[in-house]
Formats: sequence, C-alpha cells, structure tokens
Amino acid sequence: MILPIVNYGDPVLKQKAAPLNGEDVSALVADMYETMYNACGVGLAAPQIGRSIRLFVVDAAAMYRDDEPKPDNLKRVFINPVIVEESGEPWGFEEGCLSIPDLRQTVWRKPVVKIRYENENRRLVEDVLDGMMARVVQHEFDHLEGVLFIDRLPALKKQLIKTKLFRIARGDVECSYPLRVKGRVVMPR
Ligand SMILES: [Zn+2]
Repeated sequence: MILPIVNYGDPVLKQKAAPLNGEDVSALVADMYETMYNACGVGLAAPQIGRSIRLFVVDAAAMYRDDEPKPDNLKRVFINPVIVEESGEPWGFEEGCLSIPDLRQTVWRKPVVKIRYENENRRLVEDVLDGMMARVVQHEFDHLEGVLFIDRLPALKKQLIKTKLFRIARGDVECSYPLRVKGRVVMPR
C-alpha cells in the first residue's frame, strides 16, 4: 500500500523517534518500500510516513551508475540503528528528500560510517559502509533524530532558500506522489 509522505513543516519530522520494540513490522516495511519506489526514492524513514519509530528502509542501487562497481546489499532494512563511528574527509553531494519536494542542496558528510542495527529478521548486524550507500544511510538516520538535510546547510544557504521552504511547507510544490500537507493528503496532479 502506497502511504502519503509527510511534508516539510510537520512536527513529526522534528521529533526524535522512539526505539522499536518486538512488534512485527514486516507489513509496514513492505508498505514503506512500495511508497519509496513509487516516489523514486532511495531511502525512506518511518517518521516520513508519520510513524515516530526507529526504522528506515534503503535501496541505494539507483545511486550507482551502470558502469560503476555496485556493492552488494544496497537494499536493506535498518531497525534501531546506532552510528558507531563516522570517519574520513567530508565530501559534498547534492541531496534531496521525499519530505522536501523539489529542493536539492549540497550536503557535506564523512564518507565512511560504521553502523550497528537490527535487520528485517531482527538479527543484530554491524557493518562499515561507504560511498553513496553511506550517504543514504546517514541521511535516513538523521530522520530518526529529527534532523533534515537542510539543517546541515550553512546558515547563509538556509537563509537563501527560506522563501522556497515556506512555499514547500504550504504544499505549493510540484510532487509526483501523495503528500501529507498539514494533516491533509494531497494527490499528485
Ligand atoms: Zn529525507
């Protein structure tokens, strides 16, 4: 089932999400993947569909060009993730977010991330990620902390996009997927 994606300005996006207990989330995970693919996204965090729990799904395959070596396991479920360590020289890349339609900005992040999480079988995994996969995971992890990519922009940059952000929060934006704007679902035109 395709769920509406919570739009920028909703307080759920600013909340720190709660740990997930033993509840079965397989149906929710399936819905989140369907919602993410429908919106051509590479990651989706539970707060973005209005659930303030520590869960996100990722499929970073689309971030790799066909002529690039593609790592395995680009499609993964992360439950109760903990970032153990981030390392390396920060690199900039233009990020977007399904909760902030029609806005892309360069965000600087460290290239290597060591992360511990439960997978879809609730098995504890520790892994070191790099490249695009690391970036997607860092972006989604931020959602669980109530942090958006625009919060990582320099103050001057954020000032420059203020009017556009205001428009996006009003739902005055082109969007190809169902969006929840101030509690109301807006279908794509
Ligand atoms: Zn996002």
